[in-house]
Amino acid sequence: MKRTHHCAQLSNADLGALVSLAGWVDSVRDHGGIIFIDLRDRKGITQVKFDPQGQSELAARAAQLKPESVVSVAGEVVPRPTGTVNAGLKTGTIEVAATALDVLNVSETPPFPLDDVGGDKVNEDTRLTYRYLDLRRPKMQKNLRVRHLATKAIRDYFDAQEFIEVETPALFKSTPEGAREYLVPSRIHPGQFYALSQSPQQFKQILMVAGVERYFQIARCFRDEDLRADRQMEFTQVDVEASFVDREDIYTLFEGMLRQVWQRVLGVDLPTPFPRMVFADAMNRYGVDKPDVRFGLELQDFTETFRASAFKVFATTVASGGVIKALNAPGLADLSQGELKHLEEIAKSLGAKGLAFIKAEGGEWKSPIVKFFAESERAALASRLNVAEGDMVFFAAAPWEKACAILGRIRLEAAALLQKRGRLTIRADDWKFLWVVDFPLMTFDEEHQRYVATHHPFTSPVPEDVALLDTEPKAVRGQHYDVVLNGMELGGGSIRIHQPALQKKVFEDVLKIPADVVENRFGYMLKAFTFGAPPHGGIAFGLDRIVALLCGTTSIRDVIAFPKTQKGQDLMAGSPTSVTAKQLKELHIATLSPDAPLA
Ligand code: ASP
Repeated sequence: MKRTHHCAQLSNADLGALVSLAGWVDSVRDHGGIIFIDLRDRKGITQVKFDPQGQSELAARAAQLKPESVVSVAGEVVPRPTGTVNAGLKTGTIEVAATALDVLNVSETPPFPLDDVGGDKVNEDTRLTYRYLDLRRPKMQKNLRVRHLATKAIRDYFDAQEFIEVETPALFKSTPEGAREYLVPSRIHPGQFYALSQSPQQFKQILMVAGVERYFQIARCFRDEDLRADRQMEFTQVDVEASFVDREDIYTLFEGMLRQVWQRVLGVDLPTPFPRMVFADAMNRYGVDKPDVRFGLELQDFTETFRASAFKVFATTVASGGVIKALNAPGLADLSQGELKHLEEIAKSLGAKGLAFIKAEGGEWKSPIVKFFAESERAALASRLNVAEGDMVFFAAAPWEKACAILGRIRLEAAALLQKRGRLTIRADDWKFLWVVDFPLMTFDEEHQRYVATHHPFTSPVPEDVALLDTEPKAVRGQHYDVVLNGMELGGGSIRIHQPALQKKVFEDVLKIPADVVENRFGYMLKAFTFGAPPHGGIAFGLDRIVALLCGTTSIRDVIAFPKTQKGQDLMAGSPTSVTAKQLKELHIATLSPDAPLA
């Protein structure tokens, strides 16, 4: 019985037609001996009726059907009796009066309900163990489709712009300066390893040297990092590189890509160009390099106000080069002891000693520190923060980056508390894209007492700043840009260095990577750059995050067909596993017991 239609297809136009359908039994109902099944396939649902009259054996078999079994049915399309029309269903005016039934596979009772509401309540581990059932749920089917649509929109866009998709190796070489890598032992080269590619960065640059000019790839990348809601050990990047482009070209190109995706998937017209914000502003105003600009609660700087303050904690912070930052959360003075304590713990986890605050309540400022403030200091706070009755002001006093990070986090927490109280509305579909630009090329790594690349070592300095590389590396801006949406980094990239001498200088003189290590890891790139490397630049977007946003979910696991758990396991197939001694031997690998001391 080959199916003639899918389950969302039949309508009054088909009345009288003899059809066959196949799919899953969504539900079985017995109405006084007449058996109704809702038959479901990837497209929708059609009601099938088994009337016992003249075919009692058929109806009896239908009555025994277990949900989620796979069947095919044949019969005639008939109108539903008046009063039983279901306007909520595409096929709601008709039903199929069955004359034949084939049971293709009997289903056990599923371990959890497969509808959206019921399935959402189920523990995620159970969903992942039975992922094939979880994926049958309408919501998950939709997520897979949205992912397909988004990916197709991206491919179509780049194709129209004359980019070609080129695959690059997953098995690459170890370049330990990035994220932690997965190593793959070589069987034919005892003691040697590949690393799974963290991103196609080096290959895509080489493709530019190879004259490809316009490359893209929907690329699988691997990073051995702690897993979170928005991070998986293998994930997908929309990876792009182009030659003879500057930053403006890249902005236009990617605004176009995102417009096409939002247009095709959601029917939303994103306004372009996206606003731009320089890194320093993002940090100063929002305390983070990926600001959520859907709401205010901006940070303000009071370093000068408190430079000579009688409040020693602030004055000494300023004297030692730190800053004083504050933000006002209007209407949050009613926060509970528990909520305040929670905020304080967050501040402390980011390196603050505590969380200074002022509650504007009952016509006065309630605060453990305000008694130390001079009248002028109070006046500066009141006017610049617009403090009104019911407001809550928070402070951070620390070195600049730390103060920004602390208050940036408090800002997000305060916004969440205000939302909970109905005093602030932040809509998930308020798409506030922006470019964050002018990042510092290098960031000083306190722990290792050396400069590290803010983005990666291939990022080109802003031309006017190149001379500062020797004298004031911290002041050099990189030609690096991030696309940020509602507090999330969707993508980032840069114009690259394409001159071998400058690239070598960045590796050796600025990043202080020993010359032999540079030669070993990047020698081939430096060499390639001596054979006619065009100026080039590119970007990579996190496809999983984009799709999660389009689907309105916060977890990228919901938009990956077969994700790993937070502990890096595949609960369905059961990985990772141990392997046989023979396999290890072939790979020249000996394993240590987990508690054996490392040499
Ligand atoms: N490869 C970079 C990354 O994965 C992105 C880029 O610079 O194109 O972050």
